Amino acid sequence: MTLPDGVERRSFGEKEGLATRGEPVYGEPTDGAWRRWDPRRSKLGAMLENGMETGLSGGETVLYLGAAAGTTVGHVADFASPTYAVEFAARPARDLLSVAESRRNLFPLLKDARKPETYAHVVEPVDALIQDVATRGQAKVALANRRFLREDGRLLMAIKARSEDVTADPDAVFETVLGSLEDGYEILETGPLAPFHEDHLAVVARPR
Ligand code: SAM
Repeated sequence: MTLPDGVERRSFGEKEGLATRGEPVYGEPTDGAWRRWDPRRSKLGAMLENGMETGLSGGETVLYLGAAAGTTVGHVADFASPTYAVEFAARPARDLLSVAESRRNLFPLLKDARKPETYAHVVEPVDALIQDVATRGQAKVALANRRFLREDGRLLMAIKARSEDVTADPDAVFETVLGSLEDGYEILETGPLAPFHEDHLAVVARPR
């Protein structure tokens, strides 16, 4: 597995883990300019920690859906180029704004990811579409935002089973979501996010 440029495995006291360079965001341990990327707080961090081939090499243009308070997208902006961060809840978006203050390449968008036409005038074509929206209809969101993804780009998505149906068997939910995703994407790799996140399936896909 290749880590993107700008992401390294480093020691923080007794703990070892992934790290990026940037202003701390969520009380994570630091070492000089480096700050630890906690995979328990981040689906993308867990994907990298679990050795998935994300296709990220550093310096790419990113559209991130479901940015919340900026925990993960802050790390992404530390190693990527322009990073557009979509979040529709005002409260976490306030914290996202302060994460963006020290990151000139991070552009928060207080928008609904189900309505890409509301930010299509701002977002340029991207190399990576990263999605972590805890909502029903996760495949639909990924398909609606496919329009921004370059032909050789990658969709990196965490599917949360409980957001689709709290009562259904997670594996059945994943199968349904993957089936819908195939309308617009070729699935390259899937994997669990355990032990960091339960009942999630990580997906790497490319547009078809
Ligand atoms: N990705 C974040 C991180 O790692 O720091 C955590 C994201 S949290 C699991 C899911 C977020 O998706 C919530 O902040 C929620 O408000 C947001 N969300 C859900 N549906 C959305 C939508 N339709 N448009 C934009 N954001 C949405």
